[in-house]
Amino acid sequence: MEFPKENFSEWYNEVVEAAGLVDKRYPVKGMHVWRPYGWKIMQNIDNYFREIFTEYGHEEVNFPLLVPETEFKKEAEHIRGFEDEVFWVTHGGLTPLDVKMLLRPTSETAMYPMFSLWIRTHADLPLKIFQIVNIFRYETKQTRTFIRMREVHFFEAHTAHATYEDAERQIQEDIELWKKIARKLALPYRIVKKADWDKFPGAIYSLGVETVMPSGRTLQIATFHQYGQNFSKPYEIEYLKEDGTHEHVHQTTFGMSERLVGAIVGIHGDDRGLIIPPEIAPIQVVIIPIVTKNKQEVLDEAKKIEKELKNAGIKVHLDARDNYTPGYKFYDWELRGVPLRLEIGPRDMKNGTVMLVRRDTREKILTKREEYVARVRELLSEIQEHLIEKAEREMQERIKAVNTIEDAKNEDGVAAVPWCGSEECGQKIEEETEKKIIGMPTEQKHGKCIICGKDTDIVAYVAKPY
Ligand code: ZN
Repeated sequence: MEFPKENFSEWYNEVVEAAGLVDKRYPVKGMHVWRPYGWKIMQNIDNYFREIFTEYGHEEVNFPLLVPETEFKKEAEHIRGFEDEVFWVTHGGLTPLDVKMLLRPTSETAMYPMFSLWIRTHADLPLKIFQIVNIFRYETKQTRTFIRMREVHFFEAHTAHATYEDAERQIQEDIELWKKIARKLALPYRIVKKADWDKFPGAIYSLGVETVMPSGRTLQIATFHQYGQNFSKPYEIEYLKEDGTHEHVHQTTFGMSERLVGAIVGIHGDDRGLIIPPEIAPIQVVIIPIVTKNKQEVLDEAKKIEKELKNAGIKVHLDARDNYTPGYKFYDWELRGVPLRLEIGPRDMKNGTVMLVRRDTREKILTKREEYVARVRELLSEIQEHLIEKAEREMQERIKAVNTIEDAKNEDGVAAVPWCGSEECGQKIEEETEKKIIGMPTEQKHGKCIICGKDTDIVAYVAKPY
């Protein structure tokens, strides 16, 4: 399984199945079956979300999957943004429904009618909730595991606040939260403000968290939206102020999805398969007994090691399969991306050692038996740091500042170009480069718009997004 840039797409499509993450043979386009190993990675990520969002004062909820058409139609821009990609439920058995229903493409229109019942006074604010559910979108483009699917495993946090400034502070808190998530998942990123024509339907503005895959294409892996009162007005979400008057709440959302798994696959993988960051790996250490002779003795020792690591709180798996050679097992666990391999054989038993092998650098570290638990811990944290550092460096290399349309067009990754900010020039940039403006990074730089030549401090990231 080679990993050259030109074949990234082929490599990606192959590795997600070969490593046991999904089975794509389910007979509905864009709906893949999560297999146990893939689902454990997703669950580890979800559990981290539960932990960290709870810590920041959010509460988990679970809303119904179906949304009545009448609620969906309340916010005009939102409908326009989604109407051609929702799945409709039109019948109950053989009887046509009076009000047809849709499968949530996101949950604003399911939640906000309830928000208007829940929020009464300023004492009910802020309201901060999240849910982890599946959403449905009728994608017509080519689907791709984790990246463009019709059924998507989705995280969404929704908040309501008394003032616009409170909602702004929430978005700052979301960014802080995201930084922790990025470290946990070892994902490099840039936060960009979306161009006005590209913001979430119904939002005042949208921020995208973008990463760059080895193919040079960008992948949006999280979003933060400021809704202001755009939803609270049509959904009549009001609160009683201290002075006795009523005001509509100000709202935000924070969304993420299974794309995070896609980003981990693409960004850390190599020609041997996946590399799963230790902090979310379902198996952090795999033990391979090297059994040529003294089989039972070695197996017993391997079991002892398994127990010791487990007791130390490390996620460990002993591969005691009888019918495979150690060489085959090495290959198999490298493909699945287990960060650390521990080999134990007759010679190690004699010498009082174990062999530790890093998945990321393939470095072999002979370690004394009495020190190995501490060494395993250290190595797991070194691997995590190394993945973060390497991925950030590689992403930085995929972003280049350029000053002409021609260079922006020819750039393999992300072209950072000066842009006056006008929609007219923006559309021209997109047409002439045959790429998209994926957004504007927070750091500004003085330059001249590459279309009209006007002085500007705005930088636009121009790339091909997934
Ligand atoms: Zn311009």
